[in-house]
Amino acid sequence: MPKTKPALFRPTPANLTRLANQLRRGGIVGVPAETVYGLAANALDATACARIFKAKGRPANDPLIVHLAHAADIGNVAITNSAAGKLAEAFWPGPLTLVLPKKPCVPDLVTSGRNTVAVRVPAHPGFRRLIKACGFPLAAPSANPFGYISPTCAVHVRDSLCNTELRAILDGGDCTIGVESTILDLSDPNHPRLLRPGGLSLEKIEAVLQQKVIKPKTSAKLTLNSAALAPGMLPQHYSPHTPVRLHPTLSPKRAQQIPANEAIVLLCRPREKTPLKPNIFWLSEAGQLASIARNLFSKLRELDKGTWLKIHVELPSSNEGLAPAIRDRLTRAAAKG
Ligand code: AMP
Ligand code: MG
Repeated sequence: MPKTKPALFRPTPANLTRLANQLRRGGIVGVPAETVYGLAANALDATACARIFKAKGRPANDPLIVHLAHAADIGNVAITNSAAGKLAEAFWPGPLTLVLPKKPCVPDLVTSGRNTVAVRVPAHPGFRRLIKACGFPLAAPSANPFGYISPTCAVHVRDSLCNTELRAILDGGDCTIGVESTILDLSDPNHPRLLRPGGLSLEKIEAVLQQKVIKPKTSAKLTLNSAALAPGMLPQHYSPHTPVRLHPTLSPKRAQQIPANEAIVLLCRPREKTPLKPNIFWLSEAGQLASIARNLFSKLRELDKGTWLKIHVELPSSNEGLAPAIRDRLTRAAAKG
């Protein structure tokens, strides 16, 4: 198949029909989500899903998330339970992925041979309309080359997957959350286990379950063995080509001392009166975690296109809300392969 730059399509009824037909024929399509952009294929068609792995350079042992149009469709692909039902009722559509025992119709390729499947109902209206137009679930990991920074707008997808089989991207605007979904393993409903912090906070999940969730080891302590428990959660991921250095706190004063050819990303706009050097950037006006998450990947991509020798980033200090997800992505972005 010839390799061309993928085209962008707005979510008009005619375009949704066209893209659904491409997916029905076994093609791959870039899709918008509230989390990050995805690379979608018919989740029930192993040949189509193989194209996702190929386009991303994704290893076969890293399973895909299956996206449904409605929570009521869960029984088509997974064996559900009451804890999953409660969470689906509270948080779907939204940035929560549930890992449950799988139904036989889900190809082994999608689950990397596991007997569980990861499922989610996305909140992005364009993505949901596309799933409805298809009439089958869509498997979709993030639409980036494996290991690189996730995409949060259609142009990011076009830029980083242009020399692949991908021909079409549904352009649903900028992602409103900006980090991937929270993944919760509910295959044993009595022992819910967090596999990845993400767009939905653990506090909210625990409040609905009225139960503590087992947390993963911190990214820094991940070993290849623990990565195998949560497949695909490798110590290095979401990484720009430019080396990333993390700072538990980075005062504007200290930032001013960093060499001019190294970029500095603060969490919050500095209040200093002195003029700021041109290598100082920030992710939010006043430290709001939602803004930091929404701007994180696009800022890293933007800086990675420049000639910076290093990217210094300040880490959020809190343990609440989106902070663990932001810290997780940054820790992996800074990890060495
Ligand atoms: P992404 O590439 O952002 O869509 O992330 C998908 C991630 O979901 C994978 O890297 C796994 O960590 C996780 N995942 C998907 N399916 C399963 C499963 N059956 N069991 C455990 N984790 C899963
Ligand atoms: Mg990903």
